[in-house]
Amino acid sequence: MFDNLSDKLDKAFHILKGHGKITDVNVADTLKEVRRALLDADVNFKIAKDFTTRVKEKALGENVLTTLQPGQLMVKIVKDELTQLMGGDVEGINLSGNPSVILMSGLQGSGKTTFSGKLANFLKTKKNKKPLLVACDIYRPAAINQLHVVGDQIGVEVYSEPENKNPVEIAQNAIKHAKANGFNVVIVDTAGRLAVDEEMMTEIANVHRAIQPQETLFVVDAMTGQDAVNTAKAFNDRLNFDGVILTKLDGDTRGGAAISIKSVVNKPIKFIGTGEKMEAIDVFYPSRMAERILG
Ligand code: GDP
Repeated sequence: MFDNLSDKLDKAFHILKGHGKITDVNVADTLKEVRRALLDADVNFKIAKDFTTRVKEKALGENVLTTLQPGQLMVKIVKDELTQLMGGDVEGINLSGNPSVILMSGLQGSGKTTFSGKLANFLKTKKNKKPLLVACDIYRPAAINQLHVVGDQIGVEVYSEPENKNPVEIAQNAIKHAKANGFNVVIVDTAGRLAVDEEMMTEIANVHRAIQPQETLFVVDAMTGQDAVNTAKAFNDRLNFDGVILTKLDGDTRGGAAISIKSVVNKPIKFIGTGEKMEAIDVFYPSRMAERILG
């Protein structure tokens, strides 16, 4: 994960680690390399610039140049700042409702249906919940089938109404079904489009208003870099979602989305997807991710 970024940051710190006597020129060179590494990882220009400015201020504040191991101290400052940038403290998901309703949003192909299954499986096996999956994609029968396949695989019931073309009604009926049958979590998988469009946004905003979920999650493909961040912004403007799910982190992704999304939409990344299998889900810990990136 993020091998390229890790390599470049490692090289950046070589400048500091290799010198007997460190000067402010060495520090400036290191920060320039750090910024370049972030830009290469598809982090937005302003975020990368603000990041290195904060690191520089901290380094000055902690008198990096007068310490015995300036390289190590700089790595620590960068790690702390990277953790803050990606979200700081770990945030869970709100399961206080009865049932707790979780609405999944995102573009087609982002991994929404797969993640709905992973989350249901996670809640069932790790949190002892009884989840119900709901197929609210009224355009693609294949999407409904896909959710049924996923449900069968993990032993979780899937609620669908293939003849009903009203997603608000389907979601409301599913919640009634959950209440009547002892399901304590309802995961609503919605229709996505290939790009943000008004019709899709209105539809999901209507579902959101009607069912008032405890948790609205936005699913995005980490491979799409800065587009992921722009899409997150568009969905957040309409839905004011609670958290981000970053999928396909097992692929050859450069890291920009993971690093930038929190500071653009001010919402935490809550889970990551790391493969196609139902078990390929991890809680997102900013500090662990920073640790991985910096090696
Ligand atoms: P949806 O259209 O948003 O519901 O997306 P899908 O759940 O159908 O996923 C689209 C494709 O991405 C499928 O082929 C999934 O198997 C794949 N996929 C989903 N999540 C991951 C992941 O974390 N890693 C990888 N490698 N593939 C994933």
